[in-house]
Amino acid sequence: MAAIFVNPRSRIFHGHDWVYASDIKNVTGDPEPGSVLTLKDPKGKPLGSAIYNPKSQIVARRFSFRAQDLDQDFFTRRIARAFNHRESLGIDTQLCRVVWSESDGLPGLIVDRYGDHVVIQTLTLAMDLRTDLIVTALCEVLNPKSITARNEARVRLAEGMELEKKTLFGEPPAPFMIESNGLAFHIDVIEGQKTGLYLDQLSNYKLVGNLAKGRRVLDCFSNQGGFAQACSLGGAAEVSALDVSEPALEQAKRNAEVSGAKFDTIAANAFDWLKAADMRGEKFDLIVLDPPTFTKTKGSVNDALRGYKEIHLRALKMLNVGGIMATFTCSHHVSTGEFYRSILDAAVDGKRTIRLVSRYEQRADHPVIAGIPETEYLRGYAYEAIASW
Ligand code: SAH
Repeated sequence: MAAIFVNPRSRIFHGHDWVYASDIKNVTGDPEPGSVLTLKDPKGKPLGSAIYNPKSQIVARRFSFRAQDLDQDFFTRRIARAFNHRESLGIDTQLCRVVWSESDGLPGLIVDRYGDHVVIQTLTLAMDLRTDLIVTALCEVLNPKSITARNEARVRLAEGMELEKKTLFGEPPAPFMIESNGLAFHIDVIEGQKTGLYLDQLSNYKLVGNLAKGRRVLDCFSNQGGFAQACSLGGAAEVSALDVSEPALEQAKRNAEVSGAKFDTIAANAFDWLKAADMRGEKFDLIVLDPPTFTKTKGSVNDALRGYKEIHLRALKMLNVGGIMATFTCSHHVSTGEFYRSILDAAVDGKRTIRLVSRYEQRADHPVIAGIPETEYLRGYAYEAIASW
């Protein structure tokens, strides 16, 4: 079998499963892109099986410590194992990320379940070439009515694949509503943003909603209004949901009709609106900030941090004494320390003393592998602006 001999200092010796071009000593056996090969240490001792794609910066990704083929049995076992893990954690497996790539030993495969309907992404060539095996395994484990591929993530281009959207099994449904924890969401498996819904935040809506009682709330970057709904149902005095996307806000309103939440909507660019609202002296008791990732690369981290600091400063200045800012970042390029700094710098500039109320993370259906820092990306903090001592 083809093999990659890795350099002694490779990250594979430190808990990671990825092999970059610079980690490679030599390749033997002329492997095909998308095939399985053996990783070996410099002396030839096997380190496990990996998928191979010389077009990608990540040339090989280990998926097993043993000799292992990517056959039907493999996919059915791995997907069942991922599903059982979520069930054992008590996660609502009807509305759930059932497979999350490296975190489930299936590098490049993402599977989201919305009730009877499944949406997948194959982001590595090896997974993409085995879509048929994956579909068969999913039918066996989840028995869905439809499976749709939403392969629009640009990382596919780095693997030499095209962007595409297609039905793999059954009939994709017309857009439908689904409920979770008393909140309503609209699922459009064909057109929805990021496969339809932000599953990673599902457990955080309620946690933030628990802080909302009696407060005047602003849910900034609201999308389908998950936080706005939870805050309203949590007893907020008044809630506004802000997003730049009018269709998202229209959807948020329809969701609220189903869940019984009440809020008004503001269609605006958050940066402009927060600045203007701060200037005219608006005040809130709870501001949620859940922006899209401001950076997809390491190179633009400084711009991202400026963006975070700007919204943190505006939000903190607009809080009444005792008010809370709940702020999230979904970029793994921004470290916990850097994000914290953008909060602290804003507090210093805004002359507010802030006290930690709560921390948040991605829901456990997006498991974090120690040794693969890329698997941890969503972090959030709630800080209270307290009266000066
Ligand atoms: N809080 C949402 C997810 C937010 S996703 C949830 O839990 O479902 C990010 C949202 O920010 C998207 O809906 C997008 O339309 C919106 N957005 C992006 N840039 C924006 C901007 N400059 N101002 C306001 N909203 C913006």
